[in-house]
Amino acid sequence: MSTDHTAALAADRAHHIHPFSYPGEVRAGRFRRVVERAEGVYQIDTSGRRYIDAVSGLGCVNIGYGREEMAEAAAEAMRTLSFHPTFWECTNPYSARLVEQLQRLTPDNMQHFLFANSGSEANDTAIKLVRWYWRLQGRPGKTHVISRDMAYHGMNLLTASLTGLAPCHPQFGLPLPGVSHVCAPWSWVEGTAGDDQDFGRRAADALEAEILRLGADNVGAFIGEPMQATGGVVTPPASYWPAIRRICDRHDVLLIADEVVTGFGRTGAWFGQETFGFNADITVMAKGMTSAYFPVSAVALNARIGEALLNDPGELYHGYTCSGHPVGAAVACMNMQILEQEQLVERVRDTLAPAFWRHLHALEDHPLVGEVRGMGLGAGIQLTADKVSRAFFPEDSDVDAQVTGHCYERGVIVRDLGADTVGVMPPFVTSEAQLDEIFDAVRYGLDLTL
Ligand code: PLP
Repeated sequence: MSTDHTAALAADRAHHIHPFSYPGEVRAGRFRRVVERAEGVYQIDTSGRRYIDAVSGLGCVNIGYGREEMAEAAAEAMRTLSFHPTFWECTNPYSARLVEQLQRLTPDNMQHFLFANSGSEANDTAIKLVRWYWRLQGRPGKTHVISRDMAYHGMNLLTASLTGLAPCHPQFGLPLPGVSHVCAPWSWVEGTAGDDQDFGRRAADALEAEILRLGADNVGAFIGEPMQATGGVVTPPASYWPAIRRICDRHDVLLIADEVVTGFGRTGAWFGQETFGFNADITVMAKGMTSAYFPVSAVALNARIGEALLNDPGELYHGYTCSGHPVGAAVACMNMQILEQEQLVERVRDTLAPAFWRHLHALEDHPLVGEVRGMGLGAGIQLTADKVSRAFFPEDSDVDAQVTGHCYERGVIVRDLGADTVGVMPPFVTSEAQLDEIFDAVRYGLDLTL
């Protein structure tokens, strides 16, 4: 490691508070990885060793790392208009083009767009818009938001409350009031299978029961990821989302699809709603919007919600300094251009996903593997202590971390998602030979963990 790196690491150890990390490990200098560069599907550490990133960073670097066109797009915008607010009825050619592209490429239920910088901010914005909408309808009491167990919707106060992963709450005295969680459509823990359509409808019924418990006059929205990524790639049967849509309609509850991970191709369609057969009132997008080359997120509204809000004669008292940032907008447009020109969404659907699932299904007979689940190029490998009773391993066994550790020894990065689940979400530019390498490493990791 060069002297520069050593000095930087010393400063990092002393002064950088790392998210989702144990401070004690960082302070002791026990970094899991020190990554210097990345190109294509590879991360390259400071010793020059290359690792296949089979989780696309954090489920975001869909077009792969180090694309020259992206750097050019950012540099051109930075030279021309490094910043300009979109506040006060101002716009610029970059954010205007971004809206035009989004309107063209997204499904018809996405007509009006607001911009932010992260998935958390966009989800928070979505909930504020829900409150605004119901106030305009003369129903200001509809403020409660229903989310689900295993959900991940972000980390600011409200969105961490919506997140349904229990460890995210106690440190901060969360969840805030006005939020509740219903069961995830997690067939594995319910003793059934991911294609059990009755189970899908039963899982959706939990939402209706919660609306009735709270009173529909108090419930503003239901929020859900089409496929719950961070919470274990929990993937519902086909019956689930259409049933959720019907329940929301029946009780006048807005449906928010958090497509931060599923948006822009992950499930083999541009949006997870197309894959799972429903239309949300409000759609939230982030990560894949720029393949995480720049922090950009958006909230898309259908025509009904969008028109209702736009007809409010008052000013909108909401926005972020960098909403619609010219550089972010240029980067997002280039990302979409690459997805379109290289037909990467079609590549996921027609070429990569079939190969990916052949590999995953081949793991099913491994003694440690309970099931494989997911959609498109996103999968969770559920490990189990007993295939018949579906027993979890004891809390402290960290079996998924053991598997991911062994994969890393073989030069492949996969992710321990908790709940004995290993997540795999490779970039859309992964080759079939690289998929072979990924799954060789996964099998090696499973065998060594046995
Ligand atoms: N929603 C989903 C589905 C996510 O997976 C994430 C992040 O992983 C977020 C929201 C939060 O996004 P961010 O980390 O950009 O705030």
